[in-house]
Amino acid sequence: MTTRAAPEPPKPQSPDRPDKIRCDACPVMCYIAEGRVGACDRYANEGGRIIRCDPLTILDRRITKGEAVKPFLAADWDGREASGDDVFVSAIGAGTTYPDYKPAPFIVSRDIAGVDCVTVVTEAIFSYCGVKVKIDTDRHLGPEAAPVRADGEVVGHVMTAEYGSQMLSLGGVDHLTGGSKAEGRKTCDTLLRLCNRGPVDLTIDGGSSVVVQAGAAPIVDGTPEERMRVGCGSAAIGMFATQWQGLVDEVVVVDDHITGVVSEHQAGKVIDWPDTGIRIKGHRSTPGRYFKVAKPGQGWGGTDIEDPLSILGPWRPEKGARPGLSVLMVSTTGEHSAYFVLNDALEPEPHPMPEALRLSVDLIARNCEPALCTVLFMGGAGGSLRSGVTRDPIGLTRSVHAERTRVTVGGAPVYVWPGGGITVMVDVTQVPEGAFGSVPTPALVAPLEFTVPRAEYEALGGHGGSIRDLADILEAGGDYGSAARVIGGRE
Ligand code: SF4
Repeated sequence: MTTRAAPEPPKPQSPDRPDKIRCDACPVMCYIAEGRVGACDRYANEGGRIIRCDPLTILDRRITKGEAVKPFLAADWDGREASGDDVFVSAIGAGTTYPDYKPAPFIVSRDIAGVDCVTVVTEAIFSYCGVKVKIDTDRHLGPEAAPVRADGEVVGHVMTAEYGSQMLSLGGVDHLTGGSKAEGRKTCDTLLRLCNRGPVDLTIDGGSSVVVQAGAAPIVDGTPEERMRVGCGSAAIGMFATQWQGLVDEVVVVDDHITGVVSEHQAGKVIDWPDTGIRIKGHRSTPGRYFKVAKPGQGWGGTDIEDPLSILGPWRPEKGARPGLSVLMVSTTGEHSAYFVLNDALEPEPHPMPEALRLSVDLIARNCEPALCTVLFMGGAGGSLRSGVTRDPIGLTRSVHAERTRVTVGGAPVYVWPGGGITVMVDVTQVPEGAFGSVPTPALVAPLEFTVPRAEYEALGGHGGSIRDLADILEAGGDYGSAARVIGGRE
């Protein structure tokens, strides 16, 4: 049975301006005059009623992604007949559960594969949130833990690099609330742009500038990055040793982390690659694998070198070096490559690259993936917003961790961190565009949905009296208005 939500009490009026009414969707509590919007541009006073400026977004998986948005009450949308598997009321445009004692803006009954379920939606305000950014490049962006700035304000820091990618951690409560007002505002603005898939200019202390945009190639010091490396230097040796055999006497794959040498590497040994008497300047880890051949930088393989010969020491004739010995030096993306032949003094001299070797360099480049920026929004949903879902907040946390309650952000699947609280991460490219907002506290606003079997919801002390069905929501809207749109998408 559908139960309508209790009508909202009248909004308080401003003591100074009776034409202004108060928005209580966040702690800022703006007084908004008729026809005006609040400080976040997300709520307005329309005819003496606080409304949400953006429409409620309903995802219909029967609509191909990218198909034109359908207006809420369009007669040709058969949402009323759709099943709960097809149609999903997202939290985008739903409004916010604030103060937290009241039920979430929409608590929707759904039939999912024959199971009576409930989806609770709210636009959650996150003071504790940030983004993790993965930037596919082997170029050195800056030292680990270096501050990352946007328009001069520190908004995060460099994290430990991952395989073929540089990582940034941006935002977090310390930057949002623990620094100056300017730092908090700039941090919030940076997070908002990144989460809504916009480009952001960042600079790293002691390093580079980089333009980051989710799903797009990074632009490092003004140059768009093209390729993510095929692997480290050692991995490249392992992948391509057999293809180089017979074409060249030695191969060095230059890499900031692990530089590989085929004649010494196990991948060369198992195919009886002869010794060459090469000597690499760097820390030898294991045979054919060298660390620290140069400093990190923008040159070959993420090092600072422009001349690859600078990492070679004198060649050793007693170990196989001889005039005429050929050497291929290549970076892990194939972006840099050079061919040398030892002269009578056992000094490498540059020579034109033989065609067969050129093809092997092209093969490295072809095996690289396109360089992209990945932005994961990360926030803690384990706080007071749980009261909008259930009267027993700890029960919701346990239900989420037991996978009886599913969490989504704008319909996109999330990763829920183990341990305490409901700390989630989501790929922002999976969330409909423009889904994130902000308030001036400063904090980010993100759509959040909890889907749970109705029996479990009732056992959790859920707000059963506020459960409504889709038809009722389409008909009457919610506390913050009745505008809505339908887009293609999935839960
Ligand atoms: S900042 Fe936005 S959400 Fe907060 S009170 Fe003002 S209008 Fe409402």
